Amino acid sequence: MTLIIDCHGHYTTAPEAHSLWREEQKAAFKDGRDPPPYPDISDDEIRRTIEENQLRLVRERGADLTIFSPRASAMAHHVGDQTVSAEWARHCNNLIYRVTQLFPDSFVGVCMLPQSPEADLAASVAELERCVTQLGFVGCNLNPDPGGGHFKLPPLTDRYWYPIYEKMVELDVPAMIHVSGSCNPGLHATGAFYIAADTIAFMQLIEGDLFADFPTLRFIIPHGGGAVPYHWGRYRGLADMLKKPDLAGHVMNNVYFDTCVYHQPGIDLLADVIETKNILFGSEMVGAVRGIDPQTGHYFDDTKRYVDALAITAEQRHAIYEGNARRVFPRLDTLLKEKGL
Ligand SMILES: [Zn+2]
Repeated sequence: MTLIIDCHGHYTTAPEAHSLWREEQKAAFKDGRDPPPYPDISDDEIRRTIEENQLRLVRERGADLTIFSPRASAMAHHVGDQTVSAEWARHCNNLIYRVTQLFPDSFVGVCMLPQSPEADLAASVAELERCVTQLGFVGCNLNPDPGGGHFKLPPLTDRYWYPIYEKMVELDVPAMIHVSGSCNPGLHATGAFYIAADTIAFMQLIEGDLFADFPTLRFIIPHGGGAVPYHWGRYRGLADMLKKPDLAGHVMNNVYFDTCVYHQPGIDLLADVIETKNILFGSEMVGAVRGIDPQTGHYFDDTKRYVDALAITAEQRHAIYEGNARRVFPRLDTLLKEKGL
């Protein structure tokens, strides 16, 4: 039996009161006031937003478990300052925790970090520790560009990032490299910024030597790895030109791509170019593209259909759906084993 683990889900349908509080928080920051108290949100309200959306689709499409994190586009690390970001992250992560408590068989938590463009990573380290050790989360989303589309921070291989990597290694949790909303009018969030950031992150990892310092650090580059698999020859060639080792040893013991690619030829290419051990099933639903593909009659983001249609062995499919996720998220593996799975 294969457990179907979707490594990439966001709470895009969070209760309205949660999102309204965020608007009040932003307005308060602008006016130099303290934000109002965070609202009471009932279990029933959370249940309703999940059952009518994510859980319904998960059941219809046949996945078992979703690794679930706060809505990525709403992380908006560029808004406010460190205090604003810390409070917002705490509420978002607590809401994810409540979902995992209400639906323990269907959702496992991954946290957002309270990054802020001008701040160091101390608050992010503290929130990661809280979420993993107190809330049972199994990973985090790390934003390589918390400025929202201007890429002003140093590359992911810079020592600026080392405190969060040290904590990730200590806790044995991976990070999904995931930007948030764009405040750059030239960058559409999900169509340009997300895919560009995925690609940029991968190239930064080629140029540096991060995994020599952190041999057990693990990153998931979502959205199928951005443009990377399609341009695999370019990146292998650049590694060669830059006198870096072969990508297999230089980055691909530590980097994984998900299957959030919304058409069959894209998934075929991913599976053809990238080794099975580096591919994790993901759909990012309910998310970036919500419509039905008129060419197939199915939802664009029903990525399980594409993975099911791949010409691969049963063993490879098992790795993509379950085995790789259990390796990349050891704390998830432990949780599943505790349940006898
Ligand atoms: Zn996402």
